[in-house]
Amino acid sequence: MIRFDSVTKRYDTGYEALSRVDFEVLPGEMLFLTGHSGAGKSTLMKLILLMEHPSMGQVYVDDQPLSRMSNSQLPYFRRNIGVVFQNHQLLFDRSVYDNVALPLQVAGYPHHEIGKRVRAALDKVDLLDKERSNPMALSGGEQQRVGIARAVVNKPKLLLADEPTGNLDPELSNEIMTLFRQFHEVGTTVMIATHDLELLKRMNKRVLGLVQGKLVHDGVLW
Ligand code: ADP
Ligand code: ADP
Repeated sequence: MIRFDSVTKRYDTGYEALSRVDFEVLPGEMLFLTGHSGAGKSTLMKLILLMEHPSMGQVYVDDQPLSRMSNSQLPYFRRNIGVVFQNHQLLFDRSVYDNVALPLQVAGYPHHEIGKRVRAALDKVDLLDKERSNPMALSGGEQQRVGIARAVVNKPKLLLADEPTGNLDPELSNEIMTLFRQFHEVGTTVMIATHDLELLKRMNKRVLGLVQGKLVHDGVLW
């Protein structure tokens, strides 16, 4: 599903955020990405999303070398990847329903199809009863679930989450992890960046560990 082949990313500042990173993620895997702030976690995810390009090496998604992707293919490529952020980036000028519908509206889905998919996504995160609410009226955990519904409304094959539990207490972060597990169980490939060591221990999954841009660990932690 994802392959990094000796990937180095050096920013314009000259800073090497990733150094010769090699790993492979199989379709349907659920794994974590960890490391201190500045270790290169976001950079790694941006390379998968084609928001940044490697300075050396190649990133493959679904066996496709990303350096060969044309600009016209990019929107279709991104449609297959759901992204969840810590600060969930919800729009507070519209309802929960409209927040989740946004990616489908951008992609030009027909109206009836949008309704069906938005309600299916809201049902999965158990927020069907909040579709008319403004996200501002929801709790932090609920807002994060809206962010997850929006990330999966396209039924992406790959789900990337960057510190999705950063602002949540352990109970709520377990709730969010249960959701990710459910997507993993139906075949979605799930990659979650976190520096929460307790969470990594609880989950007992494959962990990629970055230290100053170098991949120093690949496997379950304990
Ligand atoms: P993490 O997500 O693990 O905190 P990042 O990938 O965000 O790490 O950052 C890795 C390093 O690259 C940091 O030192 C950061 O300052 C640097 N960096 C990130 N983005 C840029 C950029 N656009 N330009 C220059 N340096 C950057
Ligand atoms: P699950 O129980 O979630 O279905 P698996 O049985 O597929 O997970 O894998 C067990 C553990 O091994 C998980 O932590 C998974 O992420 C990890 N794992 C799976 N494939 C690889 C791999 N190619 N390299 C390293 N770890 C892997």
